[in-house]
Amino acid sequence: MAETLRYHPELLFWEGRLQAGLALEVRADGTVAGASPSQEGDGAIALPHRALLPGLVNGHSHAFQRLIRGRTEYVAKGQASDDFWSWREWMYRAAGALQPEDVFVASRQAFLEMVLGGITAVGEFHYLHHNPDGTPYVDRDELAKQVLRAAKEVGLRIALLRVGYARAGFQVEENPRQRRFIDASFEPFARSVESLRAHVGDDPFVRIGAAPHSVRALPKAWLARLPELGELPLHMHVAEQPAELAACVAEHGRRPVELLSDLGLLHERFTAVHAVHLSPHEVAALRHATVCACPSTERNLGDGVVAADALLAAGARLCLGTDSHAGIDLLDEARQLESHLRLVRLRRAVLDPGEGDPSGLAARLLRIASDGGAHALGFAPSLQPNGPADFFTVDLHHPSMAGASGDSVLGAVMFGAEKGAVREVAVAGQLRVRDGHHPLEETSRSAFTALARRIFS
Ligand SMILES: [Zn+2]
Repeated sequence: MAETLRYHPELLFWEGRLQAGLALEVRADGTVAGASPSQEGDGAIALPHRALLPGLVNGHSHAFQRLIRGRTEYVAKGQASDDFWSWREWMYRAAGALQPEDVFVASRQAFLEMVLGGITAVGEFHYLHHNPDGTPYVDRDELAKQVLRAAKEVGLRIALLRVGYARAGFQVEENPRQRRFIDASFEPFARSVESLRAHVGDDPFVRIGAAPHSVRALPKAWLARLPELGELPLHMHVAEQPAELAACVAEHGRRPVELLSDLGLLHERFTAVHAVHLSPHEVAALRHATVCACPSTERNLGDGVVAADALLAAGARLCLGTDSHAGIDLLDEARQLESHLRLVRLRRAVLDPGEGDPSGLAARLLRIASDGGAHALGFAPSLQPNGPADFFTVDLHHPSMAGASGDSVLGAVMFGAEKGAVREVAVAGQLRVRDGHHPLEETSRSAFTALARRIFS
C-alpha cells in the first residue's frame, strides 16, 4: 500500500479556522485521513509561508463561453442599449462554430484558468449537444465526452450537468441558432443522462447531473417528468431576467419558482442558478434548495443582485459560479456576493453571521465557495476526515497578502488575495498546480488562441 502523504503549510484550514503547526494527512486513495501536529524535518512536504484551504467549487460554468470574453462589451450599431439578449447573439455565434475538438480546446482553457485560481471541481451546465444543423452525432454524447476529456486532462473534478432544451420560448418562433441544444422530446434527453451515467460509472472525479435549462426553454410537460431521472443533481437557470418571469406568468399564470414548487422540484438536490428576481414567498420556497449566484456574470449582463442574505435567513444553501467566464476567479465571486449586497443594502458585512468573530464572514464566504458548491454537485466537502483532499494554497508573501496575521489572514484571503497569490492546487492530494503553474498552460493557451482566431476572424 502506498504511503500517506503529509502536507505541512504555515497555516492549515482545519475545523473551520486557520491553524499553525498542523500537517494534512492524505491517504493513497486521495482522501483526508486527518490533521496531526508537525514540525520541520519530520518528513512532511513543507509548504512554507502558505495558507492551505479547501478547494473552491465552481457551481455553474458554460466552458465554451470563455471564447467571447471581451468581445461583447459594447452597444451594437443600430441598438439603443445592450442587454442579456444582445449578448446572447454573440454567444450563439461561438456556439454555432465549434467542432468536437474545438469544444475540448475551449473547455480545457476554461478549466485550466479555474484550476490556476484554486478551483478543484466544476459544474459544467452543458447545452451543446448536436451538429450545427441539429442532427445528433453518431455518439449522441460526443460533445459531453469532449468536455469530460478536457476536465480529466486538466485534472479537476467535474459534474457534467446535461442540459434539456426544447424550444426558443413560450409562443416564440424557432431560433435556428438553438438547434445544437434542442432534443426532439424528453426521451432522448433522459437517454443521454442515463448513457452518460453508465459511461462514467463510479469514477470518483465525475458526477452526472441533469439540467433542465429554464422555464423558458422547457414546457411544463418536460418539467413534470424530471423525477423520472432518479436521484441526481438537478440544476436550472431560474429567475435571471424580468422577461423570463413575464413569459412564465403568461404561459402558466405562475412565476418560475412558484411553478417549480408546484411540481415538487425544489428539493435538496435542486440548484436554482441566479434566482435574482424573487418575491419573499419565493425565497421561502427555496429553503431546501441551493441557489448558485454568479455575481460577475450577473453584473456583466445587468441581471441584478442575488438576495443572499434573505436566502440564507430562509435556510437555503448558497454556492458560486463563474457562468459566462467574464472572469474566472471564485474568490472574487465570493467577495462580490457580499459587495453587491452592500451597494443595495447600504451597509457593511451584510452576510456576517453576527457572532462578533473577525473571521466569521470570511469563513462563511469560504464555505459557500467550497462546501456549498460540493453539495450542489454531489461531491463530498473537502478537507474533512474521509473527504477529498482537494485544496489550494495562498502565498502569505504575495504583495496582496502582505501584513496579514492572526485573525486577519482569512479575511485577507477572502477580501484581498489576488489570483496570483494562489500557488499550489491539489485534487485528491495530487498537485495539479505547482508554484502557480500548470504543465498544460502553454499547450492550452496556443490551441485556444488559434481557435479564437479561426472563429472570429
Ligand atoms: Zn448559465
